[in-house]
Amino acid sequence: MKIALVGNPNVGKTTFFNILTKSNQKVGNYPGITVQKKTGNLTDDIEIIDLPGIYSLESLSIEEKVSLDYIKNEKPSLILNILDASNLYRNLFLTFQLKQFNIPVVVILNMIDLATKNNIIIDHEKLSRALNCPVFVVNANKKHGVEEVETFLKNESSKLTSTTKNYDSLKSEDIYKEIEPILNSCVKTDKKKNTNFTEKLDSILLNKFLSIPIFILIFFLIFKITFSWIGTPLSDLLDEFITDKLTPLIQNLISNTSPLFQSFILDGIVAGVGSVLVFFPVILCMFVCLTFLESCGYISRAAIIIDKFMRLFGLSGKAFLPMMMSFGCTVPAIMGTRTFESERDRKTCIFLLPLMSCNARLPVYLLFTSVFFKNNAEFVIMGLYLLGIIVAIIVGLIMNIFSKETKSEIFILELPNYQLPTLSYMIKESFNKLSSFFKKIGTLIFSISIIIWFLSNFNFSGFTTIENSFLYSIGNFIAPLFAPLGFGIWQASLSLLTGLMAKEVIISSMGVIFGANLETILPSFFTPAAAISFLVFVLLYTPCISVLSTIKHEYGTKLMFTSIIFQLALAYSVSFLIFNIINLIW
Ligand code: GDP
Repeated sequence: MKIALVGNPNVGKTTFFNILTKSNQKVGNYPGITVQKKTGNLTDDIEIIDLPGIYSLESLSIEEKVSLDYIKNEKPSLILNILDASNLYRNLFLTFQLKQFNIPVVVILNMIDLATKNNIIIDHEKLSRALNCPVFVVNANKKHGVEEVETFLKNESSKLTSTTKNYDSLKSEDIYKEIEPILNSCVKTDKKKNTNFTEKLDSILLNKFLSIPIFILIFFLIFKITFSWIGTPLSDLLDEFITDKLTPLIQNLISNTSPLFQSFILDGIVAGVGSVLVFFPVILCMFVCLTFLESCGYISRAAIIIDKFMRLFGLSGKAFLPMMMSFGCTVPAIMGTRTFESERDRKTCIFLLPLMSCNARLPVYLLFTSVFFKNNAEFVIMGLYLLGIIVAIIVGLIMNIFSKETKSEIFILELPNYQLPTLSYMIKESFNKLSSFFKKIGTLIFSISIIIWFLSNFNFSGFTTIENSFLYSIGNFIAPLFAPLGFGIWQASLSLLTGLMAKEVIISSMGVIFGANLETILPSFFTPAAAISFLVFVLLYTPCISVLSTIKHEYGTKLMFTSIIFQLALAYSVSFLIFNIINLIW
């Protein structure tokens, strides 16, 4: 039996799906998160399918088509229609349209807590009779009412029958005409008492004059918390622990083994993996801040605030949401562009999203700023993030000038109610993000560190010094290319090359190649100007292999290669410019 979860965006479908199937899919209060169908199992015989949100069946964007096509072609045995109980008028529109498929529908009134808060009282039994289908009342965030639904689905759902009505031919006004009397008889709203906290807060946060300063202040605070107050000090402690305690301990443990094995463990694994691992507190801190901002409902407001600004370079505020995701990781951000209706906006974003500095680049910034700009680290890092945004704006503007399509799509975004995220949600989200960070360390970074160690200690005749190794020959071959940017050394070129696998690998490779404490050795290889130039190159050059394969999957090979060449050229020119300007004025 296949049960499809269908409903408007942001009504809690994924939250509900996660409970029913005991999964861990990402939830969020803005569009673009579920862009593909996701499947899981309630029991061995019952499969649950989470579909992207749709407002109506006259859908246009790619992700909405996924839902429509699934219902039409796969014909699920049952539709579990999830509704936002605090917004029934709009949500019921889809419920009526769903009746045309000859598939039984079960209605879930989710977010009943918000309805109650807004003084909306729903007689769900009456509603069930009016809609001629079972209706359940649920608070998915707190898991209230979910057990009844589960029991019903396991025991009763196969007995349901469907009534078909062809709403396809009906105009939307006619559907609303049917909805209104039902709402009048089943729903009571006490408007007088409706003192809405969200509206009050929005009058400040979306205020014409205050919105931009508050927006900047919020992001500045995130930087301060991450790089000055909490994240960096914790990272420093971890660094001290690894250098002063853990490394000597491992050294002692393996002191009786062969020098080759000792080098493998210390110069290969500890130096490689350890150099990235020390930054995990900073990354965790950033994750927690962004997760909080996302789940309290501010991100959608930020998209609205930034909409006017985005239009200057030919995009709508809708593009802000994937851009925001891109600061975490570019892969889901590119998937998120599926919500755009305009093909031009989608394609433009492919060139802009990788310019937003993803989390994987953070360890590189942190290492270099702690060595070269100790006292101004957070400003240099903030500068890099800003540079990514500024370059994206310029690229966007240029692409807009050459674009044949002039109309940018209208941006309609539903603003969720403000709410404090639950502690369990914050812990779960941070754990999810951290576990993928550690997984990357345990798999990709670990194995590349070993490969780099091997290549730096061997050549065709066996064990050798680094100057005679494979690695030296490869690095030396590419290094002259980077001389005009100030870092024409083979170590830098090689780490950039390995960084194509994942940006954190740049640091782990450096750890292995330099084979010493990076903080003490880097100043002998980079001037501060070269360090800035290197960071700018890392910010702008070709995204990692996972992003490239997502671009290929979503847009094809041609666009993937265009993106590689474009970003290499962009990174090279901007680094060259910045390196020479700094040298001129310094
Ligand atoms: P989807 O877009 O329909 O899949 O919705 P999500 O499952 O991603 O949830 C959207 C937002 O609503 C998230 O921030 C959830 O934490 C929140 N949410 C889900 N269910 C409830 C609920 O019953 N009550 C409240 N207050 N929030 C909920």
